[in-house]
Order: sequence, then C-alpha cells, then structure tokens
Amino acid sequence: MFDATSLDGRVALITGGGTGLGLEIARSFARCGAAVVLASRGEEHLAEGRASLEADGLKAVTHVCDVRDVHAVRRLVRSVEDELGSLDILVNNAAGNFVRPAEILPEKAFANVVDIVLNGTFNASRAAGRAMIATGRGGVILNVVATYAWTGGPGTIHSACAKAGVLAMTRTLAVEWARHGIRVVAVAPGPFDSKGAADRLWPSEDLEERVRLEIPLERFATREEVAGACAWLVSDAASYVTGECLTMDGGAWLGRGILGGDEPIGSVKRRKG
Ligand code: NAP
Repeated sequence: MFDATSLDGRVALITGGGTGLGLEIARSFARCGAAVVLASRGEEHLAEGRASLEADGLKAVTHVCDVRDVHAVRRLVRSVEDELGSLDILVNNAAGNFVRPAEILPEKAFANVVDIVLNGTFNASRAAGRAMIATGRGGVILNVVATYAWTGGPGTIHSACAKAGVLAMTRTLAVEWARHGIRVVAVAPGPFDSKGAADRLWPSEDLEERVRLEIPLERFATREEVAGACAWLVSDAASYVTGECLTMDGGAWLGRGILGGDEPIGSVKRRKG
C-alpha cells in the first residue's frame, strides 16, 4: 500500500529539481519521507527550489551539476552517497525544449537538446546504477519523457528524438539491471504549466488554448498530479513495475478520434435519402 511513509529512509536525486515538475516531484517525495537532492546548473534555481520546500517544512540538499558533464555527474553521485549515506532513487527530469520546425533548426541546437536529455540521462543513470549495484541494495530510476517519444513531435524534433531514446533506455536498463534489484520506469506527462513550458512551448494565451483543446479531458495536468504518480512509481507499492511508462496526458496522445470530438457522430441527425 502507498502512504505518506512510503519513501521513509530513501535518498532521491532529482535532476532539474529546482523548478517546475522536478521541484514538485521533490516535494511529493519529501512528503513521503525521502531525503531529496536537487541538482541543476543554476544556483538561483536551486536556492529558489530549496526555499520553496523549506516554506512547506521540508528539507533539501542542492548541488550545481550539468548533466552533460559526465565527470560532474559522477562527482555528484559520490557527494550524495558521502553526505546522505546512499542513493536509492534517481529522477532524470532535466531537459531543454523549444518549438522550431526541423528545416530551420540549427544542428547545434538539435545536438544540445539530445546532449541534455539523452546523454544526460545516460550519464546520470550509469553513475547512479553503478552506485546502486555496488551497494547491493538496488534502487529505482524514473525517467520523465513525453508522449511524442512514440508519436513523434512536429516542431520539437530534437526533444522527441531524445525522449524516444530515453524510453528505449528505460526498457533496456529495466532488463539489464533487474538482476541487481534496480527498477527503471518512466512517466509521460501531457502538457502541464511550468515557467519553462509557458515561455518556450505555448508563449501566448491563444496557443495555450489551442493545446488545451487537443486534450480529451480539456485541461492541463497539474504538476501535483504528475508528481504524486511519480512518488507511487518509485515506492515499493509499485515493486513489480519495471520497464513501463505511465502516460498521464488526459488522453491527449490518443487524439479526439475521427468520429468523436465535440459533436460525436451518433448525436448528429442522419442525412435524408
Ligand atoms: P523546467 O521547469 O524548464 O525544468 C527543466 C529543468 O532542467 C530546470 O530545472 C533546469 O535547471 C534543468 N536543466 C536544464 N538543462 C540542464 C542541464 N544541462 N543539467 C542539469 N539540469 C538542467 O521544465 P518542466 O516543464 O518542469 O519540465 C520537466 C520535465 O517534464 C522535462 O523532462 C520535460 O521534458 C518534461 N515534460 C514537460 C511537459 C510540460 O508540459 N511542461 C510535458 C511533457 C514532459 P537549470 O536551468 O538550473 O539547469
């Protein structure tokens, strides 16, 4: 059963944990008893994230780290183990994204997003996985992806390709590391509000409304909804779940259906004759 003590005694490292969904995941883990470590590039993001948790009576350790830098990531994992005694949960949440049609997307921008999302996830997973294997205690790795990992993402080819790689990594490592007691899972949220997403993905109210209307449940997810499911996924309540991706997108990737939508065919009068 899952309850507010489900992560007692666990140490969780969350990349990109100072802002947006990463911060909300840290909050939900800490509320369930975990010691949380926030890691990202910007000290101000980390300080704001820690202050936000402290305002709720929760604690967090912060570390500046760029997930693209494999040596920095290894140092980060060693520091977490030295300071907190173990590393039980890794959340690969750090990402970069913006909308740009493929024909005008600079190669460098494509490579940079792939570097953060795909290579960064590999760097952190391998460093954390090695630490979990060495202790013999196992652990859980949770990757934050997006549904365009399997639908494709027009306008965000860089992120879609990187997330597709992360989904393949989830399934690969779930099998490779099962024998070490390491579960590897993913969550694919639909659109939710974060400053990063609002600035770069739907920068106007019109665009936000356009996105919302594509969602069968006709609303964005809240970060709390997604973070709560993440806490369940990394807890022992989900101890037999591995290699799986939980989609939380209000039905968005399924689309509205050709015969469904606002005025379902069954409710429209038949043609005469
Ligand atoms: P966000 O607030 O912009 O979070 C991104 C985080 O990644 C920031 O804290 C950033 O911190 C960190 N980061 C970026 N590059 C990094 C690097 N090289 N090394 C370490 N940290 C790095 O965005 P969000 O909307 O909450 O997104 C969180 C996750 O959800 C992402 O994986 C995103 O793809 C996924 N997602 C979002 C949506 C959505 O609608 N928002 C939908 C589906 C999936 P620093 O700048 O301090 O490094």
